[in-house]
Amino acid sequence: MSRNEKLDCLKKLQVILQKKFILEDKIKSIPANLKAEEIELDEAREKYQSLSDFYDNLQNEQKSLAIRYDDAFNKRIEYEKQMEFINTQREFEALTKQLEEARISEQSFLKMRNSKTSELERVKAELDEEKGVLDSLEAKVSEEKSKVDSEISEIQDEISTLDAECDAIKGNIIPDDLYEKFSNIVRKKDGFGIVPVYGQVCTGCDLILPVQFVIDLELKTDKGEIEYCPYCSRIIYKETLDDDVERSYSFEQLESQKSESKSSAQDESASAESDNYDESMGMDEEFEDF
Ligand SMILES: [Zn+2]
Repeated sequence: MSRNEKLDCLKKLQVILQKKFILEDKIKSIPANLKAEEIELDEAREKYQSLSDFYDNLQNEQKSLAIRYDDAFNKRIEYEKQMEFINTQREFEALTKQLEEARISEQSFLKMRNSKTSELERVKAELDEEKGVLDSLEAKVSEEKSKVDSEISEIQDEISTLDAECDAIKGNIIPDDLYEKFSNIVRKKDGFGIVPVYGQVCTGCDLILPVQFVIDLELKTDKGEIEYCPYCSRIIYKETLDDDVERSYSFEQLESQKSESKSSAQDESASAESDNYDESMGMDEEFEDF
C-alpha cells in the first residue's frame, strides 16, 4: 500500500472500468448490421403491400370486365335469336345494326378482359416472388435478432461481473459519488481518469501546473485527498520521481511546451469544452472555474 489508499483503489478501478467501457461500446456497435437488415425488411414489406394493393385493384377490374363481357355476349346471343322471328325488312335492318354493335362491344370487352387477365397473372407471379423475398428476409432478421440478443446478454453478464469486481475493490474506501464521478471521467477521457503528475506536468493533458498547486497536490496526496487537474479534470496525484529525472522531465516539458504549441493546449481545452462533462460528472463547485 502506498501513502494514499484511495488513489491505489482508483487505479485498480480504472483498469476494470476500461474493460467495462470497451464492452459497452461493443454492445452499441453490435445491432448496426441488424438495423440495416431491419430497414431492408421494412422496405420489402412496403413493396409487397403496395404490389398486393395493386393486385387487388386489378382483380376487381378484371372481374368487372368479365361481367361486362358476359353481358355483351348474352346480348349478342339474344339478338341472334330475335333474328329468327323478324317479319319485315325494316326490322331486319334495325336488328342487324344492333347485332353488329353488340358484336363489336362483345369483342372489345373480350379483348379488355383477356388483357386484364394476363396482366393479373403477371402481377400474381411478381407478388409471389416478392412474398418469397419477404419471407426469407423475415427469417433472416429474426435469426439475426436472436443471435444479437444472446451476444448482448453474454456481454452484459461480463459487465455485471466487472461491476461486481469494482464493488469489491471500492468497498468502503471509495464513496459512491466519487466512484460515479471517476467512472464518468474514465469514460469521457478515453480510459484514463487518474494520471500522475511528473514534475509540474499533468501526464493526462501535458499541461504545466502552477508550482504552488503542485506543492499543495503533494500534501493532499499524502493526506489521502483527491485532487483534479484544473485543465483536463482527470484525478491527479504527485508521483515522486528521481530528483534528476524530475528536473529534466519538467525542463523538457517546459521547453517543448514553449516551442511545440499553443495549439495542443487549445486542442485540449476545446475537447474539454466539447465533452461538456462538468454537469454530467457532477463536478464540485471548485471545478467550474475552467
Ligand atoms: Zn491534466
